[in-house]
Amino acid sequence: MASQQGIQSGSAAVVPFPRAYRLAAPVLPPFEPSVSTRILLSPPHLVGCELNSIQATLEAGWIAPAGPVPVAFEAAIARATGFGHVLAIASGTAALHLGFRVLGVQPGDEVWTSSLTFIASIAPAVQMGAVPRFIDASAADWTMDIDLLRAELSAAARRGRLPRVVVPVDLYGQPADTLAITEACAAWGVPVLSDSAESLGATLQGRHAGAGARLVALSFNGNKIITAGGGGALASDDAALIALARALASQAKEAAPHYQHETTGFSYGLSSVLAAVGLAQITALEQRVAARRAVHARYREGLADLEGLHFIDEPAGSRSNRWLTAIRLDPARARAGREVLRLALAARDIESRPVWKPLHLQPAFRDAPQVGGAVAARLFEEGLCLPSGSNLAPLDQARVISVIRQCCLA
Ligand SMILES: *Cc1c(COP(=O)(O)O)cnc(C)c1O
Repeated sequence: MASQQGIQSGSAAVVPFPRAYRLAAPVLPPFEPSVSTRILLSPPHLVGCELNSIQATLEAGWIAPAGPVPVAFEAAIARATGFGHVLAIASGTAALHLGFRVLGVQPGDEVWTSSLTFIASIAPAVQMGAVPRFIDASAADWTMDIDLLRAELSAAARRGRLPRVVVPVDLYGQPADTLAITEACAAWGVPVLSDSAESLGATLQGRHAGAGARLVALSFNGNKIITAGGGGALASDDAALIALARALASQAKEAAPHYQHETTGFSYGLSSVLAAVGLAQITALEQRVAARRAVHARYREGLADLEGLHFIDEPAGSRSNRWLTAIRLDPARARAGREVLRLALAARDIESRPVWKPLHLQPAFRDAPQVGGAVAARLFEEGLCLPSGSNLAPLDQARVISVIRQCCLA
């Protein structure tokens, strides 16, 4: 059955390898043995059943971005998040791109996002000809400042130019207040696309991060809380939007024996091999959230007494997945600045990274309108992301904490 399928639709499945071929060793480039003691920011964390999952997939005759394995991964994502409809695709950035497309972003439209985020939150919209507008971050939880958003929506209505889409971002796993943002935007008929690439497994008022938004983008990139080795998903409670995105993700083919197209689409499918990895990984999502939260708790405990060192708030009703633990070093009170600390960690072979450089300060967006920005700029100057992997050994974390203590008590 499977092999017949492979023959009939070569693009969708493979004929399982004969046993003899399976024994032939692949020709791989010489690897550096992985004996590094370097402590990384957020390395992939294997569950252990990824190989089985890949092998079962290939043996069943599936390899292309089609067939039952991506569908099973979509169902697993839907179960884990509670979103009604899920499209698994090639990356989180592709999910955002499709989201902008199905929400009708046109050249010249404005698309608003938080200034304190990764460039992928807005890059696809800019590539579609949209004008980005960056809203400052809240000093408490570092996500989009809702009061600024509300004021700017009123101002935009007066200007007669409301945004086509607003993109809140669940920064470092802390859910933005998507419910309040959606309510503020709904008053003006503006849809919300939540960039929840960093917040898989996080919740707000008992629902998954991003709930309430028209669309939610997720990522399974190698550094995220779980990974498919690359991949993403677009989720929604709106079946029609996901159906439209699904058609666009595989070249907008109409139902016809030949290739028929009413519009142009993308090649954004998720390979069955990667979906198989994702299926294995998502079984551990709750454990991964618990492990990252435990990492965060150990930082809080180990650094609690350090003057001028602050963490991101977790407002009541929200549960961050603590994808990355970020700290802020108040220059008026902390003994060390962000760069001093980063270099001290690097000297001990510990990776850390400044908080996202705000988009309104990126040369790529030098002409974009901005709303505030001083908070995001300060968080960038003073903020540092610490090693936060779910596989960070407590002894390694103790090394990180001790370097920070040495710097901040010196
Ligand atoms: C990782 C990330 C993305 C992009 O996801 P990819 O799967 O790497 O394309 C988008 N937005 C934010 C905030 C991210 O952290």
